[in-house]
Amino acid sequence: MQVKCTLCDRIDSLMDNSFQAKKLRNRRRYMYLCDNCYERIDNKTKQRHATGKFRLYKEKKREDDFI
Ligand SMILES: [Zn+2]
Repeated sequence: MQVKCTLCDRIDSLMDNSFQAKKLRNRRRYMYLCDNCYERIDNKTKQRHATGKFRLYKEKKREDDFI
C-alpha cells in the first residue's frame, strides 16, 4: 500500500502485511511519518527532554517571557 508522510508529503510504499500498514488500516487517524521526519521529531523530543532536565523552573519562565 502507498502512504503519504503527514509532514513532508513524501510517498512511501509499505508492505501490505507490515505492522505499519496494518496499523494504518485499522486506525484512520494514525499519522504516517517517513523515516526522515520520524527521526527529526524523535531527536527534537529527546533534546527537549535533555535540556528540560537541567533547567530550573524560574529560568524557563524567563525565557518564555522573552519569546
Ligand atoms: Zn516526511
